[in-house]
Amino acid sequence: MSTVHAYGFVSSTSPCRPLEIERRAPGPYDVLFNIAYCGICHSDIHTARSEWGPARYPLVVGHEITGIVREIGSKVTKVKVGDRVGVGCMVDSCGQCDYCRQGMEQFCSKGVWTYGSMGYDGKVTQGGYSQAITVQEHFVFQIPEAISLEDAAPLLCAGITTYSPLKRWVSPGMKVAVVGLGGLGHIGVQIAAAMGAEVSVISHTRSKEADGIAFGAQHYYATTEEGTFSKLAGQFDVILTTVSSTDDYTDYINSLNKTGVIVNVGMPAAPLEIYMRALTPRRTLQGSLIGGAAETQDMLQFCAEHGVRPRIEMISADQITAAYDSVIGSKVRYRYVIDAQTIHDR
Ligand code: NAP
Ligand code: ZN
Repeated sequence: MSTVHAYGFVSSTSPCRPLEIERRAPGPYDVLFNIAYCGICHSDIHTARSEWGPARYPLVVGHEITGIVREIGSKVTKVKVGDRVGVGCMVDSCGQCDYCRQGMEQFCSKGVWTYGSMGYDGKVTQGGYSQAITVQEHFVFQIPEAISLEDAAPLLCAGITTYSPLKRWVSPGMKVAVVGLGGLGHIGVQIAAAMGAEVSVISHTRSKEADGIAFGAQHYYATTEEGTFSKLAGQFDVILTTVSSTDDYTDYINSLNKTGVIVNVGMPAAPLEIYMRALTPRRTLQGSLIGGAAETQDMLQFCAEHGVRPRIEMISADQITAAYDSVIGSKVRYRYVIDAQTIHDR
């Protein structure tokens, strides 16, 4: 067991402040690594503020984590000391159920989330806004040489969450729309373009138009402009929605062609109304939750090969509270990444 410095929350309304947490000594299959960077995902905010139900405090969030291996357990084969590694939203699972065996560990009923979840050691897990973390090797990924550790961090949640459904549905030449050009959306646009799709961004405003085109979109639409949805009716094969707030999904569904697929990954706290008749004639509405372990390693390789990189703003730990407001206000361009060197005693 070792004590490490971290930044976390003591209640749903507290600022993000210095805390100390315990990390277990690596068991036979565990990897202990020094954290270099951690991205700020909107899910961190939903959780820290108890928007999805009461969180367990004190709570350290963060599930876009990269760093360098410090110590490995006696049976670890996947990585060695000194390797560049990353961890996303999961740190453990049973390894035996049908979901685990099919590479969909994210649906394992005994799965352990990176933070706020009961670990197999009987302790509540604490996330990546910290100096080090101990993780079961199956959920530790090798970062390809071509990707820097700071760029790799957001890929471990935002990257896999968009890659998984796009890989499931997109073929070259398809018309694909990404709704919401935030942390997830700006990576989703790059991935869809790299898969050979004709990509459109559907944003609330025009303010990110030049960026959307730079990320690989051919078209850009702003929903606050009159007439946008009548122009989009029946257009798309696939729509990926990444919005963090409730929105009018019926308009998006009507933007699909007759057999199109809309995949939602956004997880707003409040319910929303959908007119089910928009799903007829034969449209599909699907959810998607991150991706499996093997798929996450594939995604990193895909991003390395196709030049998919997040656009990041590096911050220090004492800027996290202000950064949250900026994410909620849709002002971040496009992912905050915390420099873990700035997490230390005050
Ligand atoms: P983000 O960086 O804040 O991006 C969300 C985007 O939503 C914004 O950039 C904005 O894009 C759009 N938006 C729509 N209505 C908005 C409003 N009223 N206020 C502010 N923005 C609004 O968040 P993120 O990290 O990409 O996460 C997006 C959502 O996905 C969150 O709900 C998060 O919890 C969820 N998530 C799900 C998974 C999963 O596995 N399913 C994984 C990670 C995250 P425009 O300005 O372009 O409209
Ligand atoms: Zn996330």
